[in-house]
Amino acid sequence: MPERSATGQRFAVEIDAETLQQHIEELGAIGPHPDGGLYRTLYTPAWQEAMALVRRWLDELGLETRTDAVGNLFGHLRGRDDERVVLSGSHIDTVKQGGKYDGALGIHAAIAAVGALQAAYGRPRKSLEVYVICEEEGSRFPCNFWGSRALTGTIRPGETETIADADGVTIGQAMRTCGLDPAAIPTARREDVDAFVELHIEQGRILQDEGCDVGLVQTITGMRQVRVEVAGRPDHAGTTPMDLRRDALAGAAEIIARVTEAAAAMGRPAVATAGTIAARPGAVNIVPGSCTFTIDTRHSDGTKRRELVATIEGIIRDVAARRGLSVRVEQLMDHDPVPMAATVRATLETAIQAEGLRYRAVPSGAGHDSQIMAQHYPTGMLFVPSHEGRSHCPEEYTPLEQILPGVRVLARALHALAY
Ligand SMILES: [Zn+2]
Repeated sequence: MPERSATGQRFAVEIDAETLQQHIEELGAIGPHPDGGLYRTLYTPAWQEAMALVRRWLDELGLETRTDAVGNLFGHLRGRDDERVVLSGSHIDTVKQGGKYDGALGIHAAIAAVGALQAAYGRPRKSLEVYVICEEEGSRFPCNFWGSRALTGTIRPGETETIADADGVTIGQAMRTCGLDPAAIPTARREDVDAFVELHIEQGRILQDEGCDVGLVQTITGMRQVRVEVAGRPDHAGTTPMDLRRDALAGAAEIIARVTEAAAAMGRPAVATAGTIAARPGAVNIVPGSCTFTIDTRHSDGTKRRELVATIEGIIRDVAARRGLSVRVEQLMDHDPVPMAATVRATLETAIQAEGLRYRAVPSGAGHDSQIMAQHYPTGMLFVPSHEGRSHCPEEYTPLEQILPGVRVLARALHALAY
């Protein structure tokens, strides 16, 4: 029985599951890290190899390929109206010792969906494009969302000369080694994007725990990251009585314990993480005189997020005052939650229902290109489950039978948006 899409048109596409699986394995073999997993970062030989491979796939589909000033790759299926373009894709870079699915799956899904639509329906009304994003993770350069920021025209002048990797190579120098001209970055900006849809692994375990096939992203989390420097006084660990100490590490430990308790007390999806910590002078027999740590706080509700941030600031002030410590808080990142476009969300929801899938609305606790894209173009995001919720590790995994429903939803949504 042929199915009908929301527009009343028949919808019967064949997703090439075998090729999809093969693509996952082929791209997933590029950029291996010696200690396991992948390490495929911006403008490295592995990155160039990965881009060349995906370009070959896009060529094989008969799409018009091009790269922009920062190395984003596009596979263009020309529509009858070529003025407006519907994009789908994700990032090709990985974190250190990352897996084969984060980012890459959004590329594979877009290729599979666009290929299937082209085979079934030929030329679209609006142009359709596979969007292979050059960088998102910030794992070589602290430049997060480099690809999407180029597209949206939000890379600031001078960033190419000030952002450098651990070896001191600036991002501008690295661009030149790949034949890219930093001065051309403004030409990457696009005004023709009609919509962007990103399929991504959940990177959490809500979908698995609740038996859902897919997750419909409502909002991408708001986030604040700070570096906290606590200063006390270094003293002899044997001769300084407890009541006379100004122990910076003990103060930091109390702050961290109370901050994480506050996030837990607020309930899901509030989170707070102290991911780094260093004490000085760092000897077994010296009371630490100073301590530096970071706090990453996230919530998908703007009001709750500000509430949690205020609670954390209160904890820091309270602990510092009681323990006679001085504290300096340096803000590294601070942004409100980014909602996905209601129109694209509705298109995705209709597609999910037409596929008869179990789903739920979810916030994204991780940052994604969609949060940059959504501030400029109508954007929607779809999650497929992550086995055990694992991600940013070699164990990251989603079986093909849990990928295909998501790809079918993506194909339906792209059909609704572009045909
Ligand atoms: Zn990702």
